[in-house]
Amino acid sequence: MAASMDDFMSGHGKPKPCRACTDFDSYIDQYMTERKLPKTMKAKLKNDLQCPLDKNDLGRNTWSFLHTMAAYFPDKPSSTHQSEMKQFINLFSKFYPCDYCAEDLRVELKTNQPDTKSQHSLSQWLCRLHNNVNVKIGKPEFDCSKVNERWRDGWKDEVFQPYSSSLIE
Ligand SMILES: Cc1cc2nc3c(=O)[nH]c(=O)nc-3n(C[C@H](O)[C@H](O)[C@H](O)COP(=O)(O)OP(=O)(O)OC[C@H]3O[C@@H](n4cnc5c(N)ncnc54)[C@H](O)[C@@H]3O)c2cc1C
Repeated sequence: MAASMDDFMSGHGKPKPCRACTDFDSYIDQYMTERKLPKTMKAKLKNDLQCPLDKNDLGRNTWSFLHTMAAYFPDKPSSTHQSEMKQFINLFSKFYPCDYCAEDLRVELKTNQPDTKSQHSLSQWLCRLHNNVNVKIGKPEFDCSKVNERWRDGWKDEVFQPYSSSLIE
């Protein structure tokens, strides 16, 4: 069957589920499998569509922001820094645009408020929070001892640099 990116973008087939609480990735995967399109086209297809973020893109980008923010939180925050960071995370849980994700976060915050004593405390608290979500959705837990390597300092172990050899070539 002849199929192209134009075909996809013109809305032929099923309607495009461009919503934060749907899994747009799976939809593209199914679309590409049905039309035998090469996997290498996926990134271009997603980029060309300039679609609003789906739940997974939104989650990935949001975690990147939150962990980076925690990575650069002061080692010795003032009481104002501490209370404002708590307020930020509590307000964030009211506006995060994936309804059931935000609702679960608000439930969690009732018994587990952000630990804002220091950069280390906040990064570890956020890592555990992220791991709770990972477990809930069947993803592997992240090793929280490596959170600053991942989000601030870069990997100590070269095994974590999968692209380095292809960049050198
Ligand atoms: C507040 C919040 C609540 C969410 N709730 C849900 C939900 O209820 N249901 C749902 O289906 N999706 C939820 N999501 C989305 C989900 O967590 C993922 O973002 C999404 O599934 C994409 O996953 P991913 O594999 O790209 O990696 P992500 O989980 O997005 O992680 C991005 C990167 O962070 C690093 N990482 C992973 N775990 C940790 C950790 N514990 N600490 C530090 N770094 C880490 C890894 O390097 C990873 O590649 C939520 C997202 C957020 C921000």
